[in-house]
Amino acid sequence: MNNNIQMVDLKSQYQNIKSEINEAILKVIENGQFIKGPDVKIFEDNLKSYLNVKHVIACANGTDALQIAMMALKLRPGDEIIVPVFTYIATAEVIGLLGLKPVMVDVELDTFCIDVAKIENVITTKTKAIVPVHLFGQCANMDEIMELAQKYNLFVIEDTAQAIGSKYTFQNGTVVSAGCIGDIGTTSFFPSKNLGCYGDGGALFTNDDALAQKLRMICNHGQKVQYVHDIIGVNSRLDTIQAAILNVKLGQLRNYENSRNQAAHWYDELLGKLDWFEIPRRSNSSTHVFHQYTIKIKEGREKRDALKAELSKRGIPTMVYYPIPLHQQKAFETENYPLGSFPVSEALCDVVLSLPIHTEMNYEMVQEIAQNLIQVYQELN
Ligand SMILES: *Cc1c(COP(=O)(O)O)cnc(C)c1O
Repeated sequence: MNNNIQMVDLKSQYQNIKSEINEAILKVIENGQFIKGPDVKIFEDNLKSYLNVKHVIACANGTDALQIAMMALKLRPGDEIIVPVFTYIATAEVIGLLGLKPVMVDVELDTFCIDVAKIENVITTKTKAIVPVHLFGQCANMDEIMELAQKYNLFVIEDTAQAIGSKYTFQNGTVVSAGCIGDIGTTSFFPSKNLGCYGDGGALFTNDDALAQKLRMICNHGQKVQYVHDIIGVNSRLDTIQAAILNVKLGQLRNYENSRNQAAHWYDELLGKLDWFEIPRRSNSSTHVFHQYTIKIKEGREKRDALKAELSKRGIPTMVYYPIPLHQQKAFETENYPLGSFPVSEALCDVVLSLPIHTEMNYEMVQEIAQNLIQVYQELN
């Protein structure tokens, strides 16, 4: 029984940056500017340089960021937004919330990202935007997505909640950070995300000055000047304390990315030769920041669930991201996609298993997880 293996180990991570974090938090408390304090602007500027993007607008969480992005694009009820069907609910939830229509598209079996070959078929005169999700830490096929967007005059909103820091290399050699390719990028600073704060947080990215101004206004009740409200907005802010924490953690993000890649590499070595499992495929055009290390248990749901349960008894947590594709969620019942509409995503929900991966992992932990996984698999046969 092992008690120190966790999906994400934020406690140990904190121990390694404790004095900087404590000092940053204390400074905010002593200064008293809990909302819109100086750290928020400093963080936006730091993240701007990190990503090499013109504007970063902090907000309250990643779901808000998606909603604010869609509010900024002059969309009308009934307009269609293309989303992958294998993703976290937040991506599609805001589409429904704004009275827009989510048009779902299957994903690729090996990268888990939207299958670009299946997008063009669902584009209609009502289609206004594509929302690629850079799932588990690597970018969707942005060459093709940007080409389609240009051809059909569509907006692109990149859901970068799981892939901050990832870099995409276009076929022409240009390298761009995830979230800074389309019209707007969104991200989340939920504690377990690759750049996580100690509560909720999120941000929007854009290279478009006019759009940036509009996004900032929407985050702040639609006002540019206090008490003058030009458009309907929301109240979505990043707390100063969270910004101060994020400033410390942004300084570690490249190290964190390296630690996650090291753990992924060890898993590859320990599991890659077995044909019962399939290890994550790396895209040729994107770096991977391994928000999740997700393997496939080829035998299917029953075996996967049994494995998960037995590992859990041994003190090894694993997660199923995601057990149900969007079109099979009750919330999207009215979209009328019958079972069988998205065979790849439906199949993925039966076989995916995400193993612990975080910034504080050492070889012994990865080895213990891999050994247990192999042992349990054999015992279950
Ligand atoms: C976490 C996540 C979100 C939502 O972020 P919150 O900050 O929790 O609102 C959106 N999309 C994806 C893909 C996510 O993983």
